[in-house]
Amino acid sequence: MHMRIQRNGSAPSRKGPAENFTGVVRFDSPFQADAPARVFGVIVTFEPGARTNWHTHPLGQTLVVTAGVGWTQCEGGPKAEIRAGDVIWCPCQRRHWHGATPTTAMTHVAITEVLDGKHIDWMEPVTDDQYLAAPVQKD
Ligand code: MN
Repeated sequence: MHMRIQRNGSAPSRKGPAENFTGVVRFDSPFQADAPARVFGVIVTFEPGARTNWHTHPLGQTLVVTAGVGWTQCEGGPKAEIRAGDVIWCPCQRRHWHGATPTTAMTHVAITEVLDGKHIDWMEPVTDDQYLAAPVQKD
């Protein structure tokens, strides 16, 4: 087997579907390991104000922020500011969301593992009140 190289810019971006995201979200360069490995990932860009719905991951998720400034929150916890270079672990089965801030776009690489054919369970949108209300934890 040879290496596979997905060339940057070789495929069009896909749009984040409105049933799973609020605002304008783009997916680029999705990647998936060959079985028995089960890593799945994608580069996700959130325009200002855009965010995921509430969701969980059966085997958790790693986020690597590559550009901009965003927010992420586990349900019941503080809303954390995340910046380029930050690496975030989202625990298995914890409801959470991630996205841009209202004024700045954010891009992250999202890395998950597939369990029984899925790597994410989607839930309801993060309302504007939820998105804006929680205090921001900066450190
Ligand atoms: Mn997630």
